[in-house]
Amino acid sequence: MDVAVVTGPGRVELRNEPDPTPARDELLVEVGACGLCTMERRLFAGEKQLYPVAPGHEVAGRVIAAGEDVDGLDGVPKIGDAVTVDLLTRCGACSACRRGRSALCKSPQGGVLADGTIAMGAGLARLVSVPARQAWPTGDAPVEHAAMGEPLACVAHSLRVGGFKGGDRVAIIGGGYMGRLHLALARHAGAVSAGIIDVSADRRADGRAAGASWAETPEDASARAHECDMVFVTAGVPGAVELALTLCDDGANVALYGAFDKSLTAPVGPDLLHHHEISLIGVYSQEPQDWRLASGLIASGVLAADLDRLVTARFGLPDVQSAFTLAATQPVYRVLVGIG
Ligand SMILES: [Zn+2]
Ligand SMILES: [Zn+2]
Repeated sequence: MDVAVVTGPGRVELRNEPDPTPARDELLVEVGACGLCTMERRLFAGEKQLYPVAPGHEVAGRVIAAGEDVDGLDGVPKIGDAVTVDLLTRCGACSACRRGRSALCKSPQGGVLADGTIAMGAGLARLVSVPARQAWPTGDAPVEHAAMGEPLACVAHSLRVGGFKGGDRVAIIGGGYMGRLHLALARHAGAVSAGIIDVSADRRADGRAAGASWAETPEDASARAHECDMVFVTAGVPGAVELALTLCDDGANVALYGAFDKSLTAPVGPDLLHHHEISLIGVYSQEPQDWRLASGLIASGVLAADLDRLVTARFGLPDVQSAFTLAATQPVYRVLVGIG
């Protein structure tokens, strides 16, 4: 079968690879769609130099074979079931995994293809095999929605670990794809209001159309001092942490979701955190209970209208170069590569 491999900045090619066969505890999934995430964009743009590499970790499809240990086991998706797939394996053995914090697993993720190419998902292909515990059913939902399982699980993790509560007044810094998934999930989970902060007028307009209570520039939003109970920082830009703290009412939480430049620092007044019980919380990746919620939300259809708005374009696997080019050069929400 063909697998998309990024071989250098701006270069992606299809390589022939043996079809995977499922191990005893695995399912074989025929891929229906794979989303291009920040990692794929950075590899293609040359911001992360790691070549050759087979990316693609936002995968959904249909189970077509099952290993003997999991075939027919209660709770395991069956042959023919639609699933969203967790391709980032955790070791279960390191200190983070033993604490129940598998999002922080210390074991290197991913594997290698037959020719030694690094595999970071390798989901831009017709088939993937995956441990059965990492395939989550998505019912009758469109495959484009199911392919949003991984980012939605990350956002479910962000709300859970960040300490979101129903009734919170929410602000979301960054109106891109991840900001919009935060908006959808926070509204669904009972936010009394949820606003979007973004420098882009297009993204503010899109956020308003998607149901944001308000959508403002960072400058305008800074007038909302002490008006929020929960702030999600999905754009790790200079000034974002300071703005988030400005928005915090007493007892508020700030979840740091977006990636920050490693050299960036932000001034934080310890008295603000102490005296006003404000919490700054890092949130990263996802864990099985987040996948359970994300796949359940997708299967139920309650987020269907929100997810529909986030599909920017869909390409076939032979056009994977065009898909990467669009994702790397234009402001997009999600570009999907459809396989089936
Ligand atoms: Zn992703
Ligand atoms: Zn681990």
